[in-house]
Amino acid sequence: MISYKSSFYLSKYIRKQKLLGKTIAFVPTMGALHLGHISLVKAAKEKADIVVCSIFVNPTQFNKQEDLLKYPRTIDADSKLLKAVSCDVLFIPSIKEMYPKGTNNGFQAPDLGNILDILEGEFRPGHFEGMMQVVSLLLDKVNCDHLFMGLKDYQQFAICSLMIKAQKRKLEIHGMPTIRESSGLAMSSRNERLSAEGRKKAASIYASLNWVKENKDQLQIENLKQGAIERIESQDGMQVEYLEIVDKDLLRPSQDKKNWIVLCAVWLENIRLIDNLIL
Ligand code: AMP
Repeated sequence: MISYKSSFYLSKYIRKQKLLGKTIAFVPTMGALHLGHISLVKAAKEKADIVVCSIFVNPTQFNKQEDLLKYPRTIDADSKLLKAVSCDVLFIPSIKEMYPKGTNNGFQAPDLGNILDILEGEFRPGHFEGMMQVVSLLLDKVNCDHLFMGLKDYQQFAICSLMIKAQKRKLEIHGMPTIRESSGLAMSSRNERLSAEGRKKAASIYASLNWVKENKDQLQIENLKQGAIERIESQDGMQVEYLEIVDKDLLRPSQDKKNWIVLCAVWLENIRLIDNLIL
């Protein structure tokens, strides 16, 4: 695996590979890698000749400085995991490399309507604008044919799909299934901060999303939402921040059950967990 800190040398390498007729797949991450991230690298390997993974903890998508500072940084372990699945290139830029003129780099986000301000966007103002800014910068540097993202962060995936279309980028975006622990809990670097008891309780999130799926034909939307929230909150210490059932393309309210997705954010032990399920 080749590691680049410099975008100049990364872009030069990519140009050379493209001249040789190779296809490029890209997996952007913030590191602290687990099997969820690795599943994306494996899928990318199957799709393209060269797989590039980036690790960059992007300051512009954190709305709390404290969260940015305490984000886990495990580069040695990450490198080992990536080598084990034959990732070809690791891009680990510094903040200065990504934002040489400061984070206020004049990025013009495409107008995607209110999808940035609902669900996650309502509780994490500015998060998606920062995410689009960094994904745009990374895509300029990596110039990939295929972009791999996890459906675990469903709204992020939906926004990136719309952004890529609006920016007329010539690449295919792939949304990959959420990898879960055996309990059903979606894998996340945040799970490490849960107590053993917390991890057991957190499994109720996926169980409740499945309950919605099983009951969607029998119950009204409000009853489905209420039932799922009650199931999650019946576990001591769990608090639902939002739980919504919406159309899976534009994340808007819809009566078309065939196109539904349920998404939620839940607090437990001061940790915010997100999950979703296509119904
Ligand atoms: P992050 O490092 O958290 O920014 O995530 C990098 C990529 O990995 C994103 O596209 C995430 O959606 C994806 N990802 C994170 N957790 C999982 C998971 N449990 N299963 C599948 N993909 C995931």
